[in-house]
Amino acid sequence: MKLVFIGPPGVGKGTYAQAVSQRFQIPHISTGDIFREEVKRGSELGRKVQYYLERGLLVPDEIVVEVVKARLSQDDCRRGFILDGFPRTLAQAEALEGFAPPDLVLNFVADDSVIVERLSGRRVCSKCGAIYHVKYMPPRFPGTCDKCGAPLVVRKDDRPEVIAERLALYREQFSPIISYYERRGKLVTISANAQAPEVIPVVISTIERFLRGRGQL
Ligand SMILES: [Zn+2]
Repeated sequence: MKLVFIGPPGVGKGTYAQAVSQRFQIPHISTGDIFREEVKRGSELGRKVQYYLERGLLVPDEIVVEVVKARLSQDDCRRGFILDGFPRTLAQAEALEGFAPPDLVLNFVADDSVIVERLSGRRVCSKCGAIYHVKYMPPRFPGTCDKCGAPLVVRKDDRPEVIAERLALYREQFSPIISYYERRGKLVTISANAQAPEVIPVVISTIERFLRGRGQL
């Protein structure tokens, strides 16, 4: 089962993807992670990606597509995958349709006020990238990563004044992709205003219903 997760920053996509990955035994593929892996491996592709990342530039579509394609051709993707962070442009969505057309695209939505609360309370580990929330997912020791002990920081992006800007940018960037999948009948919109423990069962049952409809469950 090939899934794409779409949603604004702070909607909780990563958390839902993890739960779905466990439940259906398919890998959660975040473009951020595979970029980092590729750079670490020092592959030719990795060096290309590094060139753009180091300069703070957007990695061009054809390189992003190449990285994703390489990742999806690995053994663990045979039964499917969850893509998180890809596609980010219409060109990427069209390319994906060519080599691994998604079965279902989950479009997560939440009110702006909910997103602002989630993002402004977010803390990120300065070393391993683990994510916490001062209210909803506090670390055992305030300001310290449970996993590696490094200090937690507020990402520049999560400052309240930057959040509104990010949301506007998200809408502008993703509305063509959302319409693209809507036209193909692949889009299901899920409200993520509630906390993850309430949203996750909705996500799981949406996927189960889809599989049942196809006689795959
Ligand atoms: Zn850490």
